[in-house]
Amino acid sequence: MAFELPTLPYAFDALEPHIDAKTMEIHHGKHHQGYTNNLNAAIEGTDLEGKTIENILTNLDMDNKAVRNNGGGFYNHSLFWSVMSPNGGGNPSGDLATAIDSAFGSFEAFKNKFSDAAKGQFGSGWAWLCVKSDGTLDVCGTPNQDNSLMPGVGCGGTPILGLDVWEHAYYLNYQNRRPDYVEAFFNVINWEEVSSRFAKSK
Ligand code: MN
Repeated sequence: MAFELPTLPYAFDALEPHIDAKTMEIHHGKHHQGYTNNLNAAIEGTDLEGKTIENILTNLDMDNKAVRNNGGGFYNHSLFWSVMSPNGGGNPSGDLATAIDSAFGSFEAFKNKFSDAAKGQFGSGWAWLCVKSDGTLDVCGTPNQDNSLMPGVGCGGTPILGLDVWEHAYYLNYQNRRPDYVEAFFNVINWEEVSSRFAKSK
């Protein structure tokens, strides 16, 4: 069973004005499709074929660049689309809100730390909110298509929120203004999905 590009759960223009339709169309249809195709080519005929993407990344040989880059790209973008929504924004609630307060002091403190990770990631990469093995939350950044499932990368644990800070994610609309893109992302975060991922991680 080859990996398949997941269907975008909303229209390309659904996240405007925060993320523009052209960026979404190219990002999903070209970039994510490319990672998916290249991942399938990289694992075809190997013992990784048929495994889940989580299993592949958790047990990854970090020297296997094709699977590291494209498996990461496949997983990261699948998560990214799901944690955004045209009805997003606002603040988390319930257990996730409690865990954020406990880990960071307040939602504002979390937002600052996450935004700093996104803005401070040199070059291409991602900012993450992760659930560590002890169930607590952490924020980190990773380069390229790495993520915190991979051995020895980032905060270590299950990512439940991720922000793509590759220029392909924002350059058409924001050019060099990555901080504006990071701020806009908070208007489309699907906290219901992040909460659901938090609950499943335990
Ligand atoms: Mn991307």
